[in-house]
Amino acid sequence: MSTTNCSRRPTISAANGSTPAGLNGSSQTHSALQTFRGFAHQRSEIAPPPADLALVNSEELIEEILRRLGEDPAREGLQQTPARIVRSWKEIYGGYKQRAEEILVTQFCAGQYDEMVLLRDVEFYSTCEHHMLPFYGKAHIAYLPKNKIVGLSKLARLLDMHARRLQVQERLTQAVATDLQRILQPRGVAVMIEGKHQCMCCRGVRKKEGTMVTSCLLGAFKENVATRSEFLALAKE
Ligand SMILES: [Zn+2]
Repeated sequence: MSTTNCSRRPTISAANGSTPAGLNGSSQTHSALQTFRGFAHQRSEIAPPPADLALVNSEELIEEILRRLGEDPAREGLQQTPARIVRSWKEIYGGYKQRAEEILVTQFCAGQYDEMVLLRDVEFYSTCEHHMLPFYGKAHIAYLPKNKIVGLSKLARLLDMHARRLQVQERLTQAVATDLQRILQPRGVAVMIEGKHQCMCCRGVRKKEGTMVTSCLLGAFKENVATRSEFLALAKE
């Protein structure tokens, strides 16, 4: 698609006066696009939509994309597709609505335990921000407690929160590690992620076997060779 096409105004008409079906299911009359942006980022610095898109709801925008692909959005198989996509995005991008502080709010006393805690082989599904195609795989998340521990499921939830945003695997890995270090303040955190990227399988170089491995080591895992080796050995088992 050329730059000209990208910047061209869409042919859809603004749904003036109607109640847009925004991603958050709001029945208010503000624009669905604004609703989507608010849902996606909840940051005030994000620019408002162009004036002629302000009242177009998310489903209409997806219908227009289908038209530009060469499809007829009115044909039977596609009639409910925009609504389905909007519903699925609420789940796939649900991480924008969550905060790590809320996920890790419940912490328990570690007592005398100060050895490594490792959640291994936990699966994740995320979306690459460059192509909006899935990448997925497994993660290994470890920390060395200092006074406090958290439920194992909370580590998986923290991973899911970041995975359910547009990502690159490098940032996903780092975000999980730094949130855990910042909030729980253990002696160290180690995160390793192994991911398969659809944008490399179905387009571009079209290689489906490659796995991308990323890691982030903080505190004792970075400073202490024995600790790091123990994590790597356990993660590979
Ligand atoms: Zn990609």
